[in-house]
Amino acid sequence: MRRDARVAAWIAAFLLVPVSAASAATGGATAPASGPPTGGSRPGDPVEAPAPSRRAPVLSAFSLSRAKIFAYGAPVRVSFRIDARVRTVPVTLAFYSGSTLAREVSLGDVPTGATHVRSLRGESLPSGRLTVRVRAPRLRPAAKASASGALANYAHRFPLVGRFTWSGDGGGFGAGRPGHTHQGYDLLAAEGTAVVAPRGGTVTTVANQPGGAGNYVVLSGSGESYDYAFMHLQDGSVRVREGQRVATGTRLGSVGSTGRSSGPHLHFEIWRGAWQAGGAPIDPLPSLRRWLTWSR
Ligand SMILES: [Zn+2]
Repeated sequence: MRRDARVAAWIAAFLLVPVSAASAATGGATAPASGPPTGGSRPGDPVEAPAPSRRAPVLSAFSLSRAKIFAYGAPVRVSFRIDARVRTVPVTLAFYSGSTLAREVSLGDVPTGATHVRSLRGESLPSGRLTVRVRAPRLRPAAKASASGALANYAHRFPLVGRFTWSGDGGGFGAGRPGHTHQGYDLLAAEGTAVVAPRGGTVTTVANQPGGAGNYVVLSGSGESYDYAFMHLQDGSVRVREGQRVATGTRLGSVGSTGRSSGPHLHFEIWRGAWQAGGAPIDPLPSLRRWLTWSR
């Protein structure tokens, strides 16, 4: 009877019918309710499961669309493909800072045998230099596929794209000016040099002040309490309008010498709080120096 019960279990597993029904049909012998037969199986048993290693999902492809991103800037697209004998596998994207797991993003059950692309934004990820890995149970990379990718993520970027010169003390924060002190920092650069948003946000002011700032733009940063002002922009170069939302790195205009200016430069201000509306200017130089280290 034991032999009959095992045969019944084989048949049940093969036909995907309940074991109890098959058992009943052969006289009511008991058999395990689920799982493969244990113990005593002979070579060639039809229900023997393949070795787990032969069924492990394979990471066939993995890549990142860019190596550097910024908060509120263009997202990184993570592309990957997993091949397996099952239709879906639960997938997680893991972000390591050094050897520390800094963030996990669950993608749920992902269909196998197809390429998937997920976009991730800088503001949703940890800052700094990260290692990105695709994780799934027992997943191993194919011989020619990358197992991980490098991604650098920063909160701000330098506001100029191109050559520039730091100004001397006269262009620094707090320098004396007729009737007031200098509330920003002057970056010397050629007329036409691109001025970009150091942080995504909303453009709050686009204006012209002939005797002072010239053409200028004010930006309120997203997800923080800072405003940024960009002054003396080249005539006709301003590419944004009031109320427009911009991403980190969006071109705002070009370096010029409009208004009260002795030569082409970007007068750049950072305010904690609202620009000219309750906030207070802070020295931009420490931030500019830091942003420059990762913006090139
Ligand atoms: Zn200035």
